[in-house]
Amino acid sequence: MGLSKTIWSNPTEYIRTVKPENPVIFFSPAVLQAAARRFIDGFPGMVTYAVKTNPSEVVIENLAAAGVRGFDVASPNEMRLVRRLAPDAAMHYNNPVRSRAEIAVAVELGVKSYSVDSATELEKLIELVPAENCEISVRFKLPVAGAAYNFGAKFGATVELSAQLLKRVAEAGFIPSLTFHPGTQCTDPHAWESYIRAGAEIAQLAGVTVARLNVGGGFPNHRLQAVVPQIEDTFALIDRVATEAFGDQRPLLVCEPGRGLCGDAFTHIAKVKAVRDGQHVFLNDGVYGALAELPLVGIIDRIEVVDSEGRKRNGALESRIVFGPTCDSVDRIPGELMLDEGVSEGDFLVIHGMGAYSIATNTRFNGFGELTIATVLSLKV
Ligand SMILES: *Cc1c(COP(=O)(O)O)cnc(C)c1O
Repeated sequence: MGLSKTIWSNPTEYIRTVKPENPVIFFSPAVLQAAARRFIDGFPGMVTYAVKTNPSEVVIENLAAAGVRGFDVASPNEMRLVRRLAPDAAMHYNNPVRSRAEIAVAVELGVKSYSVDSATELEKLIELVPAENCEISVRFKLPVAGAAYNFGAKFGATVELSAQLLKRVAEAGFIPSLTFHPGTQCTDPHAWESYIRAGAEIAQLAGVTVARLNVGGGFPNHRLQAVVPQIEDTFALIDRVATEAFGDQRPLLVCEPGRGLCGDAFTHIAKVKAVRDGQHVFLNDGVYGALAELPLVGIIDRIEVVDSEGRKRNGALESRIVFGPTCDSVDRIPGELMLDEGVSEGDFLVIHGMGAYSIATNTRFNGFGELTIATVLSLKV
């Protein structure tokens, strides 16, 4: 009887041994737990995790083990997942539009924090949720700045409407709070500054002392070799501006990163199925699979090429057009990728920083998308 090996040294050991035909995403618990500690030690407030970013059980479990005590949830299924894996954790239900049935599940599962960005949805909450010890955060928005993807396009109230909603929250006996999301992969710390100052203005307009200010997710992960995110600088700026803007009414701070926590803990590999006429590289994964986010948020250039034995290619780089496996013409990685000139059929593209919005949004379109998660001690190839 042999024991199956479930923890690998690194991606190349896996490639050599398993010779996978389908895409694989490698998970490093050590990297994830280090990211969690970096947030917990550095952020001047409570750290929660936005479950949608990567709802894998191993992610929730490792974050809970590393000390994350709160989770941003958007649906009953996410709530049940968190209750099962981290029964004592706080749940912040920060999807500002909910059906009555969904609200009933949240009340049943003990959710004590909700966000809202409209008068109608606020009245629904006031009607259905017991006010005692329960927080309602008003989600506000500003014209977008600094992020890769505009979150204000769907959710968030203007400063004036937010002040009215905040007043109503307080009058209805709920704990009044504020929340915003500066946009995902936000590499400009000053986006947070504008939002925090606007938050103080809303509190003043409403004449309400805000209990907590949730500064959202949006913290970047390492996608471009040349841009190493300095999240400690953002933490310091948030801390300084919160005091400047709110003075002795400074609220407790909360953050709810998704990408910033799990992005760098996963490395993805896709096999080269063909190099057509020396130019077009066809992979076994693409924009309907784990690479769904690249056209939306921009390319990751932390890519290496290894051969079928897991040996890294070290030749000169050349630009290549790269396609996914489906028959749909949008299934192409935008632009051209700089890949090793020797890239050949049977090689693997190793893409680092792939933990966010990859496993979660992978589809089975055209019969592809069978993705294995493998645990490794190190993500280095
Ligand atoms: C998606 C989302 C997050 C996480 O965003 P990241 O950019 O991945 O950090 C946090 N809060 C809310 C409300 C979200 O919708």
